[in-house]
Amino acid sequence: MEQIKAIKAEEGEIFDIELEEDLLKKNKELAQRNKRLLDKHKILAIDVMGSIGSGKTSLIKNLASQLKENYRIGAIAGDLTTTIDADRIKDEGVEVIQVNTGKECHLDANLIGKALKKFDLKALDILFIENVGNLICPADFPLGSHKRIVVISVTEGPWMVIKHPYIFLEADLVAINKIDLTKAMGVSPQKLTEDIYKINPTVKVVQTNCIKGEGIEEIVEGIRIKEYA
Ligand code: MG
Ligand code: ZN
Repeated sequence: MEQIKAIKAEEGEIFDIELEEDLLKKNKELAQRNKRLLDKHKILAIDVMGSIGSGKTSLIKNLASQLKENYRIGAIAGDLTTTIDADRIKDEGVEVIQVNTGKECHLDANLIGKALKKFDLKALDILFIENVGNLICPADFPLGSHKRIVVISVTEGPWMVIKHPYIFLEADLVAINKIDLTKAMGVSPQKLTEDIYKINPTVKVVQTNCIKGEGIEEIVEGIRIKEYA
């Protein structure tokens, strides 16, 4: 096959405020501040990242439903303009703060710092943060969370992992969701898992069906939620 002709953007060539070093440095400082605040209140914070429609909200709902008997749970829901996810998580009886980012395609540590002020932190054990549906820039913006989960689904096709390597480097656990649709999609979860391990050999990978609640217990174990919270 003839090789495709390609040009490659030089570093800094694409004019993108998100790549500005100062901004990333400032974000990191604010993330550390968030983490200190969370640690002071012994709150375990879990950042949940993934594409639109991968199942981030369903995963958080399932985890909240399983954990709420023993832990006091809060959530921050990031979304451009709607409160759809926040409303769905609230149905679990969880306190939710909505963060609308407008046109921004990721949450940042500053917004999380603002949202944390809205909670009674003394009354929380676990905080879920649903990031904006995006696989690219959330990787560059740590929020101060203790754990990061990436949710992917078999409906995103066979190449989604190798096309988005950076987010998998940042993950503690990857959920491969909608596992019940594997056959219909003709996508191999084993191949996706191999792709993930090639990028990040120490990450945990769990297959889930968030509609039926399958794999949720394994996630609780996989990131040792009970040891932290
Ligand atoms: Mg969602
Ligand atoms: Zn972004």
